[in-house]
Amino acid sequence: MKHILMLATGGTIASRVSQGGGLTPALTGQVLLRFVPTLAQVCHVTVRDVCALDSTDLTTADRVRMAHVIWDARADYDGFVVTHGTDTLAYTAALLAHMLPDFDKPVLLTGSMYPIGAPDSDAEGNLLGAFRVAASGRYTGVAACVHGLILRGSRVVKVDSAAVAAFMSVGAPPDGSIHADGTVSVAQQPPRTRAPRLVEPRDTRVFVLRLTPDTDPAVFALLHGFDHVILESFGAGGIPARLEDALGALIAARTRVYITTQCPFGGADLTKYAVGCRARARGAVDLGARTIEDSLAAIACGDL
Ligand code: ASP
Repeated sequence: MKHILMLATGGTIASRVSQGGGLTPALTGQVLLRFVPTLAQVCHVTVRDVCALDSTDLTTADRVRMAHVIWDARADYDGFVVTHGTDTLAYTAALLAHMLPDFDKPVLLTGSMYPIGAPDSDAEGNLLGAFRVAASGRYTGVAACVHGLILRGSRVVKVDSAAVAAFMSVGAPPDGSIHADGTVSVAQQPPRTRAPRLVEPRDTRVFVLRLTPDTDPAVFALLHGFDHVILESFGAGGIPARLEDALGALIAARTRVYITTQCPFGGADLTKYAVGCRARARGAVDLGARTIEDSLAAIACGDL
């Protein structure tokens, strides 16, 4: 039987209503497992309580700690399941994917929109699904396992703040699925070309600016001093004429500027329109179909 390490970090899945009002993490990883007794037939589980936070409160340092726990334990387990708040799960998934390139074991993040044990909660199914994939021996690398899908860590985004089907894969279909009978199908997985390694993220200063039709060029003055700026532009991406000089000055002052799109799907393509070509001519970098979460992780890990 496979031996899986579970990293418990908090989130709704482990939450109960707090005295001050609102859900807050309250259950340890070991308590979460009691709600899924059938797990004993799937794999052995060892639990590590890494933290107990609403994922809104997680910092990069917390995420780096998760990567280190996984890296240090890689020889002792067949796979890893990380229970996590759904709100920033995509940021953690992307960072783990970039910190653990070519990882040769499954690292599966899961969480839920309802607390475990609540009527009709999605927690038990998501938890069991993540362990089924981890123990299947059919997937390696970082992914989210939620509502029956395996969503690659570099592509997953949270798209719904209320529905149980809260996540989607951007730029490609899900990597696989977990069926009602517990079987797992995998269509593709993160490519592995080199030996697994741990990449420490750099301490970079990144600012993400969402352009609006009225963004004041003076706002760009505030961006000087940031190492990296991501502009969320419109459609296929480009720079409005009235912001072009401000963009040029920012790049000349040695800030690396990337352009993405506000559209959730389809990605940016700065070659498509003249507004995009002139952004490129000024030195802006096209983020293509990368999500913001993945772009931030790629910048931090030197992959962009
Ligand atoms: N606020 C919660 C969190 O991200 C939401 C959830 O887990 O669904 O921790």
